[in-house]
Amino acid sequence: MKLPRNILDELIAVAKKTQPEEGCGILAGRDGEITEFFEMENVAHSSEWFELRPEDQFRVVKDIRAKKLKMLGIFHSHPASPARPSELDIQHAFYPDCLYFILSLEDEANPTLKAFTIIEDEVARKTFEIID
Ligand SMILES: [Zn+2]
Repeated sequence: MKLPRNILDELIAVAKKTQPEEGCGILAGRDGEITEFFEMENVAHSSEWFELRPEDQFRVVKDIRAKKLKMLGIFHSHPASPARPSELDIQHAFYPDCLYFILSLEDEANPTLKAFTIIEDEVARKTFEIID
């Protein structure tokens, strides 16, 4: 999976803007390359949990299809914990084909982004490439 640097910068900006709550959104693209980030409201407004509004999700998925792209990733931030899926993240991971991107602001000067697949409670770290 390839992630353009400008989108990485956007993810960091959203995470910083929404803290102490978790920030979230959907990543889309094609051929293993992310081309768009859709920032979404964390309707849980929680520092330990995120939830997307079903209507928002439906709208974004429609938009992605209209642009002939695919949903490739689900993004959320961890304002004060490491970049790995929490128990709740694992329980609510319903997209085995997507990468779960988690950005940790635990060390605010050095935001850490990691990607995982979560398939039937099985978490696997995945590598991705930042491209310019
Ligand atoms: Zn999480």
